[in-house]
Amino acid sequence: MNTLLLRDNENDIKKAGKILAGGGLVGIPTETVYGLAANALDGKAVSKIFAAKGRPMDNPLIVHIQSANDIERFNLASEFPKKAKMLAEKFWSGPLTMIMPKGSAIPDEVSAGLDTVAIRLPEHETARAVIKAAGVPLAAPSANLSGSPSPTTAQHVMNDLGGKIDAVIDGGECRVGLESTVITLAAVKPRLLRPGGVTVEEIESVIGEIDIDDAVLNKLADGEKAASPGMKYKHYAPKAKVILLKGADNAYIDFVNNNSGAHTAALCYSSDAVRLNVPTFLLGSKDDCLSQAHMLFDSLRKIDEHPEIKLVYARCPSTKGVGLAVYNRLIRAAGFEVIDLEKI
Ligand code: AMP
Ligand code: MG
Repeated sequence: MNTLLLRDNENDIKKAGKILAGGGLVGIPTETVYGLAANALDGKAVSKIFAAKGRPMDNPLIVHIQSANDIERFNLASEFPKKAKMLAEKFWSGPLTMIMPKGSAIPDEVSAGLDTVAIRLPEHETARAVIKAAGVPLAAPSANLSGSPSPTTAQHVMNDLGGKIDAVIDGGECRVGLESTVITLAAVKPRLLRPGGVTVEEIESVIGEIDIDDAVLNKLADGEKAASPGMKYKHYAPKAKVILLKGADNAYIDFVNNNSGAHTAALCYSSDAVRLNVPTFLLGSKDDCLSQAHMLFDSLRKIDEHPEIKLVYARCPSTKGVGLAVYNRLIRAAGFEVIDLEKI
């Protein structure tokens, strides 16, 4: 299949809408990462997403809407819980996905057989315009091959899925660069399943204390059930082995410079780069977790362009604010391998 590269103008958005309404797949820009969209109400169209990505069928998809009214209009949820409404008021449109009891219109392919559905209203104008043009809500996971870092440019999508999907709309680089925050409001107490651009602190300022799912920071034990099925899979990993190094600037620099061979590289803050004797890939700046979120996936993909690199020493980010989301992705890229430099 020839994958069309579309631009984010009115004409091309109309084209994308037609493809989607006809049961096709289109890569679309959002403020988080690029999504691979299909008509969320058409189980057959949605099943093509799983085939193109190589995504396990038990990992449910997020339904993207262009107005909060779409939830009722299309019967997406059987209940729009009060706390979800409060969060929608404050953080929609934006990088917050909310899980609620699913409505009758949601095919099993979207919810992976669960009795809940994940819903998000993206902030990106092109994303919302495409949903409008399609005339239906769009199911859209990240537009990468399953297991790879999520795509933050149209070129990343082309590299992974070119030839397998109908089109990609180029909307430039994604603002946030990490997938949305996922919170369930279908549990007795709201629980964070995946950290993202909307922080725990911001959510708690609206609905009070929330629980943080164990899988956000820790590796699931073998056979343990994941509240968010996506959390159980190895994710975001470049081909090289990644190890997180936890410690201060000097300790990080000394460790990398003293423990590196010809096949080692560093994923470091911009201020570290000049002091390191190995090839460096940038993880934004030390005190700016938004820049870290923005650069992480692009840097992980750049590492893959260097097959000679076998080992990457990455800095361990702070877990405050959006840093929690950066840490959550990096620790998965590292297969949970962390060296505490203060303890060696
Ligand atoms: P992606 O679209 O690739 O960012 O993945 C969507 C994430 O949302 C995955 O981690 C899913 O497991 C999670 N998710 C989607 N629907 C549900 C649901 N109904 N319950 C729990 N997690 C969900
Ligand atoms: Mg994904």
